[in-house]
Amino acid sequence: MWREETVEELSDGRFYTANDLVKIGTDDCKGCSDCCRMGPVIVLDPLDVFELNRFLGQSFEELLNETIELKVIDGLILPVLKLVQKADPEKAPAGVPDQKMLQENTADHSDRVSAQENAQEGAQEEAMACPYLGEDGRCTIHDFRPGICRLYPLGRSWENGDFRYILQVNECTRCNGTKIKVKKWLGIPNLAAYEAFCRDWHELLASARRLLEGADPESKLRNQICIYLLRQFYLCDWNVDDFYGVFAQRRAEAMRYLGFSS
Ligand code: SF4
Ligand code: SF4
Repeated sequence: MWREETVEELSDGRFYTANDLVKIGTDDCKGCSDCCRMGPVIVLDPLDVFELNRFLGQSFEELLNETIELKVIDGLILPVLKLVQKADPEKAPAGVPDQKMLQENTADHSDRVSAQENAQEGAQEEAMACPYLGEDGRCTIHDFRPGICRLYPLGRSWENGDFRYILQVNECTRCNGTKIKVKKWLGIPNLAAYEAFCRDWHELLASARRLLEGADPESKLRNQICIYLLRQFYLCDWNVDDFYGVFAQRRAEAMRYLGFSS
């Protein structure tokens, strides 16, 4: 999820490594799906797309037709999960009074219709959710959910090309403070390789953004670089066994293409 707030505004002020304990337990979320609804944008990295390709058997183009869309994120075009309308099984639609209540509390028919329409509009706005959220309020792709979802409510704080984990204290509505190791929370096999991938991907995007600093949003250079990155890391064949090895190779090519040493 993309955030622009400072670490001080977001977190408990502490920085964590994968081996640290953090007060993060959510008691298995117990039917809550708040963070999968109307949240900030969930940007997908190449590993997320690789996992979706692998487990859903869908190409990037097929995903684009269904569950993801392209958005401009800080000057670069990147894929994000596309929010869809979905009911929350845990809550009555917020802001929608029932018919009886409307009849008792509105002066005449036109008021009643107007109040109902407004309430329905409000409910529709509040019902936006991740396309992979199941009707039971659980994630239908839990085992291969995007990295940002695995992190939540942790985040990453970046400095000089490296990151540390932070706990976003104003996010999860049900964190009960049970201490859990960061690496257990993430549940990612070969975490060292994953963290190296995160750094390399972050550095590549930062390099591309530096190159485009000051460039017109519609400039030929910006379009060229955005399309190159999409082709090199998303619209490509991710039917490979060694994701990290192939990513490293593609990243080295991209750094050369952008004029940076890899
Ligand atoms: S992918 Fe799963 S965990 Fe992530 S926002 Fe969607 S439903 Fe929630
Ligand atoms: S807001 Fe917290 S408790 Fe609710 S689904 Fe997200 S992580 Fe779980």
